[in-house]
Order: sequence, then structure tokens, then C-alpha cells
Amino acid sequence: MTHAGESSVAGMATLETLQFDNTFIRELPGDELSQMDKVKANVPRQVEGAMYSLVEPTRVAKPSLIAFSRECAKLLGLSEEECARPEFAKALGGNTLLSGSEPYAACYGGHQFGNWAGQLGDGRAMSLGEVVTGTGERWELQLKGAGPTPYSRRADGRAVLRSSVREFLCSEAMFHLGVPTTRALSLVATGDQVVRDVMYDGNPAPEPGAIVCRVAPSFIRFGNFEIFAARGDKKNLERLARYTLDRHFPDLSVEHDKPLTDALPKMLQRVCETTAEMVAAWQRVGFVHGVMNTDNMSILGITIDYGPYGWVDNFDRKWTPNTTDNSMKRYCFYNQPGICVWNLVRLANALLPLVGEPAPLEQALASFEKTYLAVEARDRAAKLGFSEWRGGESGEDSKLWEDLEGLLEKWETDYTILFRQLAQVPAVSGPPPAAVDTDAMLDSVLARAFYAPPTPGQRVMWGKWLQRYVARARDDGADDAARRARMDAVNPKYVLRNYLAQEAIERAEASGDASSVHELLELLRRPYDEQPDKEERFYQRRPEWARSKVGCSALSCSS
Ligand code: AMP
Ligand code: MG
Repeated sequence: MTHAGESSVAGMATLETLQFDNTFIRELPGDELSQMDKVKANVPRQVEGAMYSLVEPTRVAKPSLIAFSRECAKLLGLSEEECARPEFAKALGGNTLLSGSEPYAACYGGHQFGNWAGQLGDGRAMSLGEVVTGTGERWELQLKGAGPTPYSRRADGRAVLRSSVREFLCSEAMFHLGVPTTRALSLVATGDQVVRDVMYDGNPAPEPGAIVCRVAPSFIRFGNFEIFAARGDKKNLERLARYTLDRHFPDLSVEHDKPLTDALPKMLQRVCETTAEMVAAWQRVGFVHGVMNTDNMSILGITIDYGPYGWVDNFDRKWTPNTTDNSMKRYCFYNQPGICVWNLVRLANALLPLVGEPAPLEQALASFEKTYLAVEARDRAAKLGFSEWRGGESGEDSKLWEDLEGLLEKWETDYTILFRQLAQVPAVSGPPPAAVDTDAMLDSVLARAFYAPPTPGQRVMWGKWLQRYVARARDDGADDAARRARMDAVNPKYVLRNYLAQEAIERAEASGDASSVHELLELLRRPYDEQPDKEERFYQRRPEWARSKVGCSALSCSS
């Protein structure tokens, strides 16, 4: 183990030798009150003319490490030994400050559920600063749940263990699935209790508190731009735009005496493209974010703010995990790409004062659909095991896909398991389509995806679809092993089903036993691998008891 003062292995850092270079607060204007006295200034208020407020984490009773991500630690140059040091839990629980860290809470606004909500900001998140690694990469570290900030409104600035376990595990699970996302370095128990009314039904109760350290190149959201546009503060809007270009889109950056009229539509186009890739990946793996407000949309097109998210078990286009959204279903599975567009239009509107005319921004917005449709076609072809998507006028594959979605929805079928099992259906090596024993297929290969045994009507409909599928796969030409490999590379076998997270949480809450959290973290490092020893426990449909249990299918925003 390397400690302060000892020389570190090349490229590796210790907590003491992490290099901070905090450009966000160095290059951008801060809240003056907080710069004079960050403790006195830490009261809920409107912060105008500033991008952030300096803050200090509030001490917690007893920070102890529950889990850390070795891959995320490695990004920062931290070894596993470094993460096991008591100093690690103290620093990432907010009780000590790493040298070079200058904590701040960012000011942003946002549209929540379609309505402008005014100033929101980091109400319980605080950035520690930007770490520059030995290879020159920059990572912003952010504690979530480290105490109140000027943006906390009436809330406490804390986070409960259950939501922290969910954010920690899902951030890393998404990374390993190949979905663009913020990362999670650590999960630290605070030793404090936090009071929450989980179902908003007048039953507040104490729960264990925790802090997650999130890691991303930047946490700038659409809402960071929106707040200045809404306040008519063009000067700060421009400063933020120039900073974002310089730091995050350097090839688009503009000399500071030149206008942004060309660069910002180009930046918006990039945001449209990366956002399209992100949401297409969500659809591919069956992830539903749950709260796609513009304050939860990253300018880098990475998944951010894991709250009441969920994974589709039985396929249902209208499914949302968020109880607050149960009647509107604004953020349901099916709506996610369209909501991205709605949010991107909000970002375009926020940039408009700097561009002057809408046309170039409108043109940039069109790139969302172009990218989304291309990625969707590629992913759907791969999910079905085809070398290419046959779209065009015949729309052959679109029809096959839509009919499959119809079947999955009509007769509750597990989205994850179905595609994984479909990969095992013989096509090239089996009998010709008309001779396929589809009943046998339903009863053997596909059976584990069905929430109820197939009815006679279901058998007929599925039989017809399977014959079409086999015909199409044979026509594609790849042998069955190659088709299966193609499918298994995009159809995960293991996802963070809500009930699995909930079981791990209950165990950790009841007895402080985090072994299930560790087990899930380990499992989800290789979501596309067979892991046969994990199959019996984790490659299963959501059990009946979990169908409507709180935390297992639907979640409130309480966190
Ligand atoms: P979210 O829905 O989690 O994205 O949060 C929306 C806004 O509420 C953000 O500005 C958060 O910082 C703030 N917020 C959520 N929970 C808390 C909390 N416990 N304390 C302070 N602010 C919070
Ligand atoms: Mg948020």
C-alpha cells in the first residue's frame, strides 16, 4: 500500500496524490455570498448571476465503506488497496477533504414533468472538483447526499441507503452494459438516520443514510443553460456556453471575441447525437429512467440521476417505474426517445439568445431522429441476430419487430429472457420454417420467458411469428452459432431487476449485511456472459411476490 509521502507506482495515485484542477469554479463566476462565507451562505435561496455556490459537506456520524467500484477507481488511478483505507470512507463520506478539492454545488433549473420549475440546483449533490489522472483524463467527483446546499429548498440534503444502493449499482451496471452513463466510485454508509415518507402517505420513518460518489467528465445538465436563459442573463449564458465548448467540445471552441452563432448549433447537434445513442441503448436493454426532467439530462449524453428508474420485466411499452408518473406515463418506456426530443428543444430554446435565429438550431435538432433511427435499426437487427436491418419500402423487419412487441405485450413475456432464449432457436441448422415444431420451441427454449404458460391462441400466434423468424434468419445466412453470438453481445442475460436490488437493499438495511450488494456488483460486471453458476438465482423472471411490492416494480421519488 502506498501512503502519503511515498512515491506512487507510475500512473497510480493515492488519496493524497490525486491531482485536482477545478476549472468549473476557476473559470466561471460563483455565488459571491458563498465566496465570502460558505457556511453562513449555506441557506436555501435564489442564487442569481452565478454558476455555483461554494459549500462544505456536513459531517456524518460514522462513515463506513459499503462498496466501491474497482473499475471506476482505476479510472482515477486508485488501487483497490487505496479504496480499502479508512481515509477513503472518511473522504467520500464527506468528513475530510481531499487535498485540492474545493466543494461546490451547481446552480441549474429545469422543466419537471413538462413544466418550468425555476431554480433547482445541486440540493444534495456537491462536486469535490475535477481530478486529472496520470494519462491526462479529467473526472469530476461528486458526492450525493453530503448535506444541504443553497439549492436544497426545504429538503435535508441527504440520501437514504436504498436509493444510494440503487444509484451505485445501476451506474456501474449501465457502464458494463455499454450504456453511456455517469459512474459510481463508492457507496458509504453515514451512520446517520434520514427521515423519509417513502410512499408520500403520511408515514415518515427513519432510514439509514448513505453517500454515493459519482464520477463523470462533467455533470453539466440542460438545466444549467436553461436557468440563465429563463432569467434573461445572457452574459452568464454565454460564459457557460464558451466554457462548455472549450472544455467538453474543444474542436468546436471559439476565440472569445468571436460569436457563437456557428459553434452552438454544432454543439447542439452533438448533444442530439449522443442523447439519441444513449436513449437507443436504454431501449435496447429495457431501461426506464423514470424522471427525464431537463435537470436530469446531461450535456454529454450520459445517463444521469438514478432515481425511480427500473427495468422492464414483462414487456410493456407503457410501463413506468415512477409512481408519481403513474397516471400520465410521460416517462414510460415507449415515450423515452420522444421525451429526449422535447428536452433537446428546451436546450435549443435556451441557446437561442446566443444564436439569434432558430433555423440552425432546428436543423441541428433533426439530427436526433437521424441518429436514433440508425442506432435503433442496427440494435434491433442485432437483437434479432440479423446482419442488417431490412427496412426500406417493404419494411420487412419493422413488421417482424412490431409483431414481436405485440406478442410480448399481449401475453406477459420477459423482455430480457426472451431475446436471450430466442438466440438458441435453431434456424439454419433446423428444419425449414413450415416444418418447425413451434409448440416444442415454446415449451422448451422460450418457456422461461413467459409469465404464464401459453394458451392455445397464443401458441398459434407465436407459432406463426416463429416460422417467419426462422425463415428470415435462414435467409440472412449466418449459421446458428454466429447468430447466437451476435444476439448475446447486445441482449444482456443479467440486468438489475428492481426486485433484485430491493432484496439486496432490505438485507443491507436489516442487518448491515452488504454481501448481496457485492454479489450484484460482481454479477453485473459481465452482463452478457453466461455465468452458468449465477443462472438459477439471477436469470429468472420477476417472481410473483414482487409484482406490485414497493421498490420491486414501482418506486416513488422519495430518496
Ligand atoms: P431529482 O428529482 O432527484 O433529480 O431532484 C430534483 C431536485 O431536488 C434537485 O435540485 C435535487 O438537488 C433536489 N433534491 C432532491 N432530494 C433532495 C434532498 N433530499 N435534499 C435537497 N435537495 C434535494
Ligand atoms: Mg436530478
